[in-house]
Amino acid sequence: MSMSVNKTEKIGIYGGSFDPPHFGHVIAVKEARRSLGLDRVLVIPAAIPPHKRISGRATAEQRFEMTRLAFENVKFAEVRDDELRREGPSYTADTVAELREEFPDARFYLLTGADMFMTIQNWWNVEEIFASCTVVALSREAGQTDELREHAVWLGHRYAVSTEVVENPVVEISSTELRGLIAKGQQSKFLPEKVAQYIAREGLYLD
Ligand code: ATP
Ligand code: MG
Repeated sequence: MSMSVNKTEKIGIYGGSFDPPHFGHVIAVKEARRSLGLDRVLVIPAAIPPHKRISGRATAEQRFEMTRLAFENVKFAEVRDDELRREGPSYTADTVAELREEFPDARFYLLTGADMFMTIQNWWNVEEIFASCTVVALSREAGQTDELREHAVWLGHRYAVSTEVVENPVVEISSTELRGLIAKGQQSKFLPEKVAQYIAREGLYLD
């Protein structure tokens, strides 16, 4: 058995808009859990401030439901509404602080795609995130690991932060690209079947 007394739980935290969620998200989470030996991953859709909301996009409830469907067969993943229940825009530092109260003894791994990892130093209260989480970088394009490793070194010189660069299989897809395909009536192998059905039923992303 892998469970033993006093074993520190390793928890991944994966945030995003998930508008819509896709296999790039699911595969990144699976690979991070495999390579880091995470016990579970909390998948947390972010609130999008109303003034930023663009017509034709999904509501918070729809993004939450689609994310639940995308991760429904991933046993170690739990889709949570922490950021949707809070007022105003979502700050990862706030989420991590709340999770720290809920899981005082866990080791946190903040999972980020390359675009997020390269700019994480600009996030609000980032030093509080660094104090509580190992930051994990996942590639979004082929040949990106060197750039991610260099940035990890730079962060390490500048901040008290622990980082990991995962060599994940690259899945070149974004939600932006998927919204464009759906608007044109096209399908994509990167969209989980149940998410595609939900999008069709709700008439999402048509304009
Ligand atoms: P959008 O185009 O709307 O920005 P997105 O595809 O970037 O959507 P987000 O919800 O913005 O998806 O991303 C959530 C998290 O998942 C971020 O850390 C992002 O870097 C990461 N991510 C998104 N797509 C991939 C992918 N294909 N491979 C690895 N990580 C990804
Ligand atoms: Mg994005």
